[in-house]
Amino acid sequence: MNPIPNEYAEAALEITEYSHLMWSKGYVEANGGNISVRLSGDTIITTPTMESKGQLRPEDMVICTLKGDKIYGKRDASSEIKTHIAVYRSNPQAKSVVHSHPPYTCSYAFTDSLPFSFMSAEALFWLDKMCVVPFITPGSDELSNEIECLCKGSSVILLRNHGLITWGGSIKEAWWRTEAMESSCKISHIIKERGDTPVYLSERDRLSLQKIKESYFNREERYD
Ligand SMILES: [Zn+2]
Repeated sequence: MNPIPNEYAEAALEITEYSHLMWSKGYVEANGGNISVRLSGDTIITTPTMESKGQLRPEDMVICTLKGDKIYGKRDASSEIKTHIAVYRSNPQAKSVVHSHPPYTCSYAFTDSLPFSFMSAEALFWLDKMCVVPFITPGSDELSNEIECLCKGSSVILLRNHGLITWGGSIKEAWWRTEAMESSCKISHIIKERGDTPVYLSERDRLSLQKIKESYFNREERYD
Protein backbone atom coordinates (compact mmCIF):
# COMPACT_ATOMS: atom_id res chain seq x y z
CA MET A 1 0.00 0.00 0.00
CA ASN A 2 1.26 3.53 -0.86
CA PRO A 3 2.80 5.67 1.88
CA ILE A 4 0.76 8.73 2.92
CA PRO A 5 1.15 11.71 0.50
CA ASN A 6 3.22 14.75 1.56
CA GLU A 7 0.17 17.00 1.76
CA TYR A 8 -0.84 15.10 4.92
CA ALA A 9 2.61 15.29 6.55
CA GLU A 10 1.56 18.07 8.92
CA ALA A 11 -1.50 16.16 10.15
CA ALA A 12 0.64 13.02 10.59
CA LEU A 13 3.20 14.97 12.64
CA GLU A 14 0.50 16.55 14.80
CA ILE A 15 -1.03 13.16 15.63
CA THR A 16 2.44 11.80 16.41
CA GLU A 17 3.14 14.65 18.85
CA TYR A 18 -0.20 14.24 20.67
CA SER A 19 0.33 10.44 20.79
CA HIS A 20 3.71 10.94 22.50
CA LEU A 21 2.11 13.41 24.93
CA MET A 22 -0.69 10.92 25.71
CA TRP A 23 1.85 8.18 26.42
CA SER A 24 4.14 10.44 28.46
CA LYS A 25 1.25 11.43 30.73
CA GLY A 26 0.45 7.76 31.37
CA TYR A 27 -2.96 7.92 29.70
CA VAL A 28 -2.30 4.73 27.66
CA GLU A 29 -0.50 1.44 28.18
CA ALA A 30 1.01 -1.18 25.80
CA ASN A 31 -0.69 -0.73 22.39
CA GLY A 32 -3.76 1.02 23.94
CA GLY A 33 -5.40 4.24 22.76
CA ASN A 34 -5.74 5.90 19.37
CA ILE A 35 -6.10 9.34 17.78
CA SER A 36 -7.66 10.41 14.48
CA VAL A 37 -8.17 13.67 12.57
CA ARG A 38 -10.73 14.29 9.84
CA LEU A 39 -8.99 15.38 6.62
CA SER A 40 -12.11 16.02 4.55
CA GLY A 41 -15.79 15.11 4.51
CA ASP A 42 -15.13 11.40 4.25
CA THR A 43 -11.44 10.71 4.95
CA ILE A 44 -9.53 10.51 8.23
CA ILE A 45 -5.89 10.02 9.27
CA THR A 46 -5.27 7.81 12.28
CA THR A 47 -2.72 5.95 14.42
CA PRO A 48 -1.90 2.34 13.39
CA THR A 49 -2.78 -0.86 15.20
CA MET A 50 -0.44 -2.62 17.68
CA GLU A 51 2.01 0.18 18.43
CA SER A 52 2.92 2.06 21.60
CA LYS A 53 1.77 5.67 21.42
CA GLY A 54 5.19 6.59 22.82
CA GLN A 55 7.05 5.16 19.82
CA LEU A 56 4.93 6.26 16.85
CA ARG A 57 6.46 8.04 13.84
CA PRO A 58 4.57 10.21 11.32
CA GLU A 59 5.13 7.60 8.59
CA ASP A 60 3.23 5.01 10.67
CA MET A 61 -0.09 6.84 10.21
CA VAL A 62 -2.94 5.42 8.12
CA ILE A 63 -5.47 7.27 5.95
CA CYS A 64 -8.87 5.64 5.49
CA THR A 65 -12.42 6.48 4.45
CA LEU A 66 -15.33 6.96 6.82
CA LYS A 67 -16.36 3.43 5.85
CA GLY A 68 -13.08 2.14 7.31
CA ASP A 69 -11.39 1.31 3.97
CA LYS A 70 -7.64 2.06 3.90
CA ILE A 71 -6.43 4.49 1.20
CA TYR A 72 -2.79 5.18 2.22
CA GLY A 73 -0.32 3.87 4.78
CA LYS A 74 2.18 1.06 5.27
CA ARG A 75 0.46 -0.05 8.48
CA ASP A 76 -3.18 -0.97 9.26
CA ALA A 77 -5.58 1.10 11.35
CA SER A 78 -6.72 -0.15 14.76
CA SER A 79 -10.00 -2.11 14.91
CA GLU A 80 -11.11 0.66 17.31
CA ILE A 81 -11.21 3.05 14.34
CA LYS A 82 -14.84 1.95 13.99
CA THR A 83 -15.66 3.86 17.17
CA HIS A 84 -13.99 7.02 15.79
CA ILE A 85 -16.00 6.65 12.57
CA ALA A 86 -19.18 6.33 14.66
CA VAL A 87 -18.32 9.63 16.41
CA TYR A 88 -17.65 11.43 13.07
CA ARG A 89 -20.86 10.07 11.57
CA SER A 90 -23.07 11.21 14.39
CA ASN A 91 -21.25 14.56 14.93
CA PRO A 92 -20.44 16.30 11.61
CA GLN A 93 -18.69 19.11 13.56
CA ALA A 94 -16.14 16.64 15.00
CA LYS A 95 -12.68 17.19 13.47
CA SER A 96 -10.64 14.96 15.78
CA VAL A 97 -11.20 11.99 18.13
CA VAL A 98 -8.93 10.92 21.01
CA HIS A 99 -9.32 7.54 22.76
CA SER A 100 -7.30 6.76 25.89
CA HIS A 101 -7.29 4.83 29.18
CA PRO A 102 -6.37 7.53 31.78
CA PRO A 103 -6.17 5.91 35.25
CA TYR A 104 -8.40 8.27 37.29
CA THR A 105 -11.02 8.35 34.53
CA CYS A 106 -10.84 4.55 34.28
CA SER A 107 -11.26 4.26 38.05
CA TYR A 108 -14.74 5.80 37.51
CA ALA A 109 -15.37 3.90 34.25
CA PHE A 110 -14.63 0.65 36.12
CA THR A 111 -17.23 1.37 38.82
CA ASP A 112 -20.82 2.59 38.85
CA SER A 113 -19.94 6.08 40.06
CA LEU A 114 -19.16 9.33 38.21
CA PRO A 115 -16.85 12.25 39.07
CA PHE A 116 -18.29 15.44 40.56
CA SER A 117 -19.32 17.91 37.86
CA PHE A 118 -19.43 21.72 37.62
CA MET A 119 -16.63 22.33 40.13
CA SER A 120 -14.58 24.64 37.87
CA ALA A 121 -14.75 26.86 34.78
CA GLU A 122 -12.61 24.34 32.82
CA ALA A 123 -14.98 21.49 33.67
CA LEU A 124 -17.99 23.51 32.57
CA PHE A 125 -16.21 24.61 29.42
CA TRP A 126 -15.00 21.19 28.28
CA LEU A 127 -16.98 18.48 30.05
CA ASP A 128 -20.63 19.41 30.27
CA LYS A 129 -21.79 17.05 27.52
CA MET A 130 -20.83 13.59 28.77
CA CYS A 131 -22.45 10.25 27.95
CA VAL A 132 -21.80 6.80 29.42
CA VAL A 133 -21.70 3.72 27.18
CA PRO A 134 -22.09 0.27 28.79
CA PHE A 135 -19.31 -2.30 28.26
CA ILE A 136 -19.36 -3.86 24.79
CA THR A 137 -16.43 -5.76 23.22
CA PRO A 138 -13.84 -3.23 21.90
CA GLY A 139 -13.60 -3.12 18.11
CA SER A 140 -17.06 -4.70 17.61
CA ASP A 141 -19.80 -3.36 15.32
CA GLU A 142 -22.15 -3.48 18.31
CA LEU A 143 -19.96 -0.99 20.21
CA SER A 144 -19.68 1.41 17.26
CA ASN A 145 -23.46 1.23 16.65
CA GLU A 146 -24.11 2.02 20.33
CA ILE A 147 -21.65 4.95 20.25
CA GLU A 148 -23.19 6.33 17.05
CA CYS A 149 -26.59 6.20 18.76
CA LEU A 150 -25.63 7.59 22.18
CA CYS A 151 -22.92 10.19 21.48
CA LYS A 152 -24.75 12.67 19.24
CA GLY A 153 -23.86 16.04 20.80
CA SER A 154 -21.81 14.41 23.60
CA SER A 155 -18.13 15.27 23.25
CA VAL A 156 -17.01 13.24 26.29
CA ILE A 157 -17.84 9.53 26.13
CA LEU A 158 -17.07 7.31 29.13
CA LEU A 159 -16.80 3.64 28.13
CA ARG A 160 -17.63 1.37 31.07
CA ASN A 161 -14.80 -1.06 31.92
CA HIS A 162 -12.74 0.37 29.09
CA GLY A 163 -11.78 4.07 28.94
CA LEU A 164 -12.52 7.45 27.45
CA ILE A 165 -13.31 8.96 24.04
CA THR A 166 -13.33 12.72 23.48
CA TRP A 167 -13.78 14.72 20.30
CA GLY A 168 -13.50 18.36 19.30
CA GLY A 169 -13.33 20.92 16.50
CA SER A 170 -9.56 20.28 16.40
CA ILE A 171 -7.07 17.78 17.84
CA LYS A 172 -6.23 20.39 20.50
CA GLU A 173 -9.85 20.62 21.66
CA ALA A 174 -10.28 16.84 21.67
CA TRP A 175 -7.08 16.51 23.72
CA TRP A 176 -8.04 19.28 26.15
CA ARG A 177 -11.28 17.42 26.86
CA THR A 178 -9.26 14.29 27.68
CA GLU A 179 -6.97 16.29 30.00
CA ALA A 180 -9.92 18.10 31.63
CA MET A 181 -11.74 14.79 32.23
CA GLU A 182 -8.71 13.10 33.80
CA SER A 183 -8.06 16.14 35.98
CA SER A 184 -11.70 16.30 37.09
CA CYS A 185 -11.68 12.57 37.96
CA LYS A 186 -8.41 12.96 39.90
CA ILE A 187 -9.72 15.94 41.89
CA SER A 188 -13.03 14.11 42.56
CA HIS A 189 -11.04 11.12 43.82
CA ILE A 190 -8.97 13.32 46.17
CA ILE A 191 -12.09 15.05 47.56
CA LYS A 192 -13.82 11.70 48.14
CA GLU A 193 -10.66 10.17 49.64
CA ARG A 194 -10.49 13.04 52.15
CA GLY A 195 -14.18 12.54 52.98
CA ASP A 196 -14.92 16.10 51.88
CA THR A 197 -17.85 17.60 49.98
CA PRO A 198 -17.29 19.63 46.80
CA VAL A 199 -18.47 23.20 46.41
CA TYR A 200 -20.17 23.59 43.03
CA LEU A 201 -20.30 26.69 40.84
CA SER A 202 -23.42 28.77 41.53
CA GLU A 203 -26.21 28.97 38.95
CA ARG A 204 -25.23 32.60 38.30
CA ASP A 205 -21.59 31.72 37.66
CA ARG A 206 -22.60 28.84 35.43
CA LEU A 207 -24.79 31.11 33.29
CA SER A 208 -22.03 33.70 33.01
CA LEU A 209 -19.45 31.05 31.99
CA GLN A 210 -21.96 29.55 29.56
CA LYS A 211 -22.10 32.88 27.70
CA ILE A 212 -18.29 33.00 27.38
CA LYS A 213 -18.34 29.40 26.20
CA GLU A 214 -20.98 30.06 23.55
CA SER A 215 -19.06 33.01 22.15
CA TYR A 216 -15.87 30.85 21.98
CA PHE A 217 -17.58 27.97 20.21
CA ASN A 218 -19.27 30.30 17.72
CA ARG A 219 -15.90 31.66 16.54
CA GLU A 220 -14.60 29.95 13.45
CA GLU A 221 -11.00 31.07 14.05
CA ARG A 222 -10.72 28.72 17.03
CA TYR A 223 -9.90 26.02 14.48
CA ASP A 224 -6.64 27.77 13.53
ZN1 LIG B 1 -9.34 1.26 24.26
